[in-house]
Amino acid sequence: MNNLLVMKFGGTSMGSAERIRVASQITAGERGARPVVVVVSAMSKITDLLLDSLRRAEAGDDVGLEADIEKLRERHVAACRELLPPDGHEAAIEAVHRLVGEFQRIAGGVLMLGVRPPSSVDEAIAIGERLSALLMAAHLEAWGVRAVAVSGADVIVTDAVFGSASPLMEQTREKARQLLLPLLEAGVVPVVTGFNGATADGRPTTLGRGGSDFSASILAASLDAAELWIWTDVDGIMTADPRLVPEAAVLDEVTYSEAAELAYAGAKVLHPRTLAPLVDRQIPVWSKNSFALDKPGTKIVSKLDAQEHGPRAVTSMASVALVSLEPASAALSGTKAMARALEALSASNAEVLMLSSSSYRQNFCFLVRKDELAAVLECLESTLSLELAHGYLRPISVDENVGLLSVVGEGMKGTQGLAGRIFMAISRENVNIIAIAQGSSELTISIVVRRDGLEKAVQAIHAECRIGEQAHLHKE
Ligand code: ADP
Ligand code: ASP
Ligand code: MG
Repeated sequence: MNNLLVMKFGGTSMGSAERIRVASQITAGERGARPVVVVVSAMSKITDLLLDSLRRAEAGDDVGLEADIEKLRERHVAACRELLPPDGHEAAIEAVHRLVGEFQRIAGGVLMLGVRPPSSVDEAIAIGERLSALLMAAHLEAWGVRAVAVSGADVIVTDAVFGSASPLMEQTREKARQLLLPLLEAGVVPVVTGFNGATADGRPTTLGRGGSDFSASILAASLDAAELWIWTDVDGIMTADPRLVPEAAVLDEVTYSEAAELAYAGAKVLHPRTLAPLVDRQIPVWSKNSFALDKPGTKIVSKLDAQEHGPRAVTSMASVALVSLEPASAALSGTKAMARALEALSASNAEVLMLSSSSYRQNFCFLVRKDELAAVLECLESTLSLELAHGYLRPISVDENVGLLSVVGEGMKGTQGLAGRIFMAISRENVNIIAIAQGSSELTISIVVRRDGLEKAVQAIHAECRIGEQAHLHKE
């Protein structure tokens, strides 16, 4: 389909009746000119509420669970009343009750059994997105724009890694086209739930926290969209998280590689896996602010017209842990230990955020997300049990009091003296550097520092490299 626009609205852009109204206006405006597929997140904080409710249910807290469910119902019923005309909201309110009832049924099972099976969690938390899709589709319809709510489970086929599933692109392409193209041809706007999918045999899955961006890019690629617009609550991709660095500036354009590195290194504005499905088809992506419609946003493209030198952005991740391994005897080569450890990491399904090795003692360390640490340690301990038991390896050491900062930019390649300036900036703040890594692409320098120095170090690098001031240089 020619000229298809996929638009994703994040949690804050769907956070209230007023915000859903704005999202619908944007959709109606674009729909006038071309076919549009909308992908929505749950209303802000709803996924957290659903996850909390399930934890309460597991712990047997039926009173807390009931209170949470009431909050869930209240917020969506109130939004229905505000969004829809009085003669039109009864059906939508009934549909809200049905979906909340579905959640209640799953949470009731968790309460009774005292366990939270991952597949039930995925089925339950997708109800946040199903509720918001329902509201948006009903509002568009009431406004004269034909629209229908679609569950991601009916269009995105994934593997069975519950909580962090990956799409099976060929099957998804087939399913998405089969269901969505006829709707588009009939002039209907599909409002698809972000975040969720289902295995080929129909078991519900989710794509990981923040995964609605990924849903949107999976659908944009599957439908050969002309563009993907991701609506959020900041003016685009910025030179740093504006909550940490008030001077952060919006980047007019970034490359797929830069955006992917930034997202991977903690820039929450994009889910880390968003860009992968789009690169081959070179589908342009815009990051835009639904709270400031006059701002152009950031365009993500294959190549910049002119590349300035130096870093383009600095990001950080606080919830990480550094795992170190060290051979204890010459009987085990460092390379072998590393190979075995990587095998264990791959079995754990965890992502290695950074890896570094040096010294003749052949010790090496890698960084993982804190919420993946338990799985990583379990796999390492079982894969390396013999080496550990026989003393060929020293006990695995874990440091959770660390943070990762990453400096990113295609123009860093060949920029002399840059690493020196970065390290100077960090050391002036008396922040201790624990580990360093730079890939041979020279796109990212990753630095592990003490956790309490992380924010200071990010601010110092942003100032020292004058990153904010350089944001628009390539446009001049
Ligand atoms: P949404 O709910 O729309 O998906 P998110 O909260 O997931 O929005 O992402 C947007 C937030 O990402 C912003 O409010 C901002 O605080 C944060 N952020 C972190 N790093 C960056 C960055 N480099 N550029 C822009 N925003 C960033
Ligand atoms: N609602 C989900 C979350 O909060 C997915 C998303 O918003 O992208 O993680
Ligand atoms: Mg997000």
